[in-house]
Amino acid sequence: MAADPDCIFCKIVAGEIPGEVVQRSDDAVAFRDLNPAAPTHVLVVPVDHAENAAATAAADPALVGRLVSVAAQVADAEGLGGDYRLVLNTGAGSGQSVFHTHLHLLGGRPMTWPPG
Ligand code: C5P
Repeated sequence: MAADPDCIFCKIVAGEIPGEVVQRSDDAVAFRDLNPAAPTHVLVVPVDHAENAAATAAADPALVGRLVSVAAQVADAEGLGGDYRLVLNTGAGSGQSVFHTHLHLLGGRPMTWPPG
């Protein structure tokens, strides 16, 4: 889907508002979370706007795999040694607050389960 003019992540992808971008490709952008919940907290987002991962998967299933690949590359670059958590909050009840698909990459500290 085309960029949503009201979407904050579309604006970061377009460079209209600042974001600390760590990796960029034709279809995905990875940038540091403004409010990090771990020493490494990076969001990997598709360039194309979709409201959540299920919508991205419906439009382009392989793109979801590419988001995971980008997260793995960033985790390596951050020196996480293969220990990290990937999170796709889907729906307000899950804690999703920005309705543009984003894969959280969290690492650099011990993780507990279940998440809150
Ligand atoms: O999964 P959820 O929708 O709750 O995650 C949204 C994330 O986007 C939050 O971790 C928040 O800190 C981050 N965020 C950001 N930059 C913004 C707005 C939100 O990094 N301008």
